Amino acid sequence: MAEVLVLVEHADGEPKKVTAELLTLARTFGEPAAVFLGAPGTYAKAKEYLAQYGAAKVYVAESDDIAGYIGGPAAEILAKLVGEASPAAVLVAATADSREIAARVAARTDSGLIWDATALSADLVATQGIFGGSTIVTSKVTKGVPVVVVRPNSTAPEAAPSTPAEQTVEVALSDAAKGAKVVDRVVEAKSGRPDLTEAQVVVSGGRGLGAAEHFALVEKLADTLGAAVGASRAATDAGWYPHQNQVGQTGKTVSPQLYIAVGISGAIQHRAGMQTSKTIVAVNKDPEAPIFEFADYGLVGDLFNVVPQLTAEIEKRKA
Ligand code: FAD
Repeated sequence: MAEVLVLVEHADGEPKKVTAELLTLARTFGEPAAVFLGAPGTYAKAKEYLAQYGAAKVYVAESDDIAGYIGGPAAEILAKLVGEASPAAVLVAATADSREIAARVAARTDSGLIWDATALSADLVATQGIFGGSTIVTSKVTKGVPVVVVRPNSTAPEAAPSTPAEQTVEVALSDAAKGAKVVDRVVEAKSGRPDLTEAQVVVSGGRGLGAAEHFALVEKLADTLGAAVGASRAATDAGWYPHQNQVGQTGKTVSPQLYIAVGISGAIQHRAGMQTSKTIVAVNKDPEAPIFEFADYGLVGDLFNVVPQLTAEIEKRKA
């Protein structure tokens, strides 16, 4: 059975849930081989997790250069592994850093790239949103080794304990790989809520909220559901909520089980970041708002009436 390379998504060695999802997906059409790229000493934190989710092998490359330069070192190492291992496919998560790495790997290996897959069949046919997510198509790579960027929450992670073989990868980088140096890192403030891109439930607020302080309504509903909080660009541009919480074409892409849009019109650029959510609920006072064209459930009404009632009802049912 051919290997399927899975780029491990992690924060300082702590694997993100999407890594388990990619390993689970890889098992459906090959032998999952995790590729861990990180700073020296970080792999130790990921080892157990990768074994728990069925990695048959782990390629380990640790170097200060991997996190010290943008994209280049990771892409160079991964592309070299693709050449050596001739895998059936390469799977990476649809996050900002990994998207960049995926594109570089596809270019270096002269391979086809599939972007934003929400499903991948055993014969490597991907379901994918294109044109900013407004159209869903099925696609298959016909050249080289398929490099597939998969949205978080596309696969339910299943544990499959294994004892992976470990292979240390020598890090010998070209000058070209060190083209863009990281000069500073700003760690996102911790909110105590789930990570926006990985959350099972997301509650987002838009211009309809009218003011920064009204985001408290969205946060309360989110906390009742154990959800992450998102925002439209109108809300982040107005300074009502941090830009790191923006959902959409120029923000983050989310694909939760449940997406609740509060006071958001449903512009194409917002839709691009959330339309593959499994169930979409919209609260809007305008029955003609575009979001009702693609929402699964629509609540026409004033959010200042609807949201507190919704929150209270959920709290009551939880009790
Ligand atoms: P509006 O479109 O103003 O909608 C507000 C909604 O709230 C209305 O439908 C209104 O009926 C409703 N409302 C008002 N009061 C109430 C109330 N009391 N109760 C209930 N409902 C109420 N946008 C993004 O979100 N993400 C992006 O990443 C993004 N990227 C962009 C990139 C480009 C290049 C461009 C040009 C635009 C981008 N936009 C993005 C902006 C996008 O086009 C919209 O302007 C934006 O999404 C609108 O945000 P909104 O829905 O909150 O505001």
